[in-house]
Amino acid sequence: MLEVEQKVIDELRQGEAYEGIQGEGLHAEKRFYIESYGCQMNFSDSEIIASILQTSGFGSTRNVDQADLILLNTCSIREKAEQTIRKRLTEFKKIKKQNPGLLIGILGCMAERLKSKLLEEEKLVDIVVGPDAYRTLPGLIEEAETGTKAVNVLLSREETYADISPVRINSNGINAFVSIMRGCNNMCAFCVVPFTRGRERSRDNISIINECKDLFQRGFKEVTLLGQNVDSYYWVDPITNHAVDFAMLLEQVALISPNMRVRFSTSHPKDITEKVLQTMKSYHNICKYIHLPVQSGSTRILQLMNRTYTREWYLAKVKRIKEIMPDCAISSDIIAGFCTEDDQDHLDTLDVMRISMYEYSYMFAYSERPGTLAAKRYKDDVPEEVKKKRLEEIVSLQNKLSFESNLKDIGKKVEVLIEGDSKKSNLQWMGRNSQYKVVVFDKSDSSLQPGDYAWVEVTDCTQGTLLGKLVS
Ligand code: SF4
Repeated sequence: MLEVEQKVIDELRQGEAYEGIQGEGLHAEKRFYIESYGCQMNFSDSEIIASILQTSGFGSTRNVDQADLILLNTCSIREKAEQTIRKRLTEFKKIKKQNPGLLIGILGCMAERLKSKLLEEEKLVDIVVGPDAYRTLPGLIEEAETGTKAVNVLLSREETYADISPVRINSNGINAFVSIMRGCNNMCAFCVVPFTRGRERSRDNISIINECKDLFQRGFKEVTLLGQNVDSYYWVDPITNHAVDFAMLLEQVALISPNMRVRFSTSHPKDITEKVLQTMKSYHNICKYIHLPVQSGSTRILQLMNRTYTREWYLAKVKRIKEIMPDCAISSDIIAGFCTEDDQDHLDTLDVMRISMYEYSYMFAYSERPGTLAAKRYKDDVPEEVKKKRLEEIVSLQNKLSFESNLKDIGKKVEVLIEGDSKKSNLQWMGRNSQYKVVVFDKSDSSLQPGDYAWVEVTDCTQGTLLGKLVS
């Protein structure tokens, strides 16, 4: 599962809007406004949606009052994510009254989960489109412009949008997401993704390499290869029958240029291979950071979650990663309070966190999702206050682990890719090291610009940031 919402260091601003395309053609004078919610895959999808709308002549606006079409690209991973959307919709009531021709569309996982039921529940909504049906958006808009509600939530076994070049939204021109596959074949008991994003399918490696080459030529210095479970990436060329697995794809992207960093997300502990780890070690520009969701530290709970690995298997993977790349950072996803979880299961989770020494994690209380295996098989029997207390313990342990990890970096020299001004002061640069840690340092050398690499000596830290001084 890709990273979602709250992280130890607040990263993603909800409801990013977009500006900048002047459209021509059928809808030339029409403008769309899009907000993206949830995981990186959704933000990457919004860039594909912007490209499809641009091609059909739409312009765009960052100002919701100027929009002819409002699109919410939604998340359904927890009940709270859907409530956020329903609340956001109420805020459009007034705008729609003032502009009756305005169309509102719900896209993404909530659209796929609820389908046309969403039209009954939310009268403001005109268009409902699932993650595999974005190509049909222009046609659905025309349909809705005639006054009928328009829906397409068909899931596909082929669709990867490989031929659509994403329009980079709110991009800093340095880092970019590149989706390499869609859907998921795992059936983790708590997860809606297999139902909202369908079966797994990999995108052809050539289109991925071309997109990364194009990004590098346009000055981008880092690509993140995206998939629900990148380790099961597998593409067979229909003509040559040549097969490409994830380790091979990773190498092909790393070979584009040693000056372009390569990251990937998300890995699955049961699928990450020795070959991938050895490939990461072989290339300096493949960042030494792995997002390896554990979800629980208890083998009994992992079996109920249908994660298909045991606590011992997981810890053996972590040990192997550290053997091959001692400086590799690991982050995780952790669910507190899954069905039947008892105190010992919870202690097992805290124990796995200590042994794995995570740099940071995405931590949530279990939220039962309709239609999932867990909702069908198990009672959501852990009381909310117990979930809350366990989550607090998990978060406070993680904060301690993150701080301890940063303390160990004091005195080290780290290579930083400058992304821009630090949030706190434009007299300081903010960037990341290979371990995906945020590094902030003074702008002492005026020749440096965003997109440049700089060596920084770490002199201090907080729980979420390394502070340092430029060495070269
Ligand atoms: S089913 Fe499992 S592996 Fe797939 S997206 Fe959900 S949590 Fe991740």
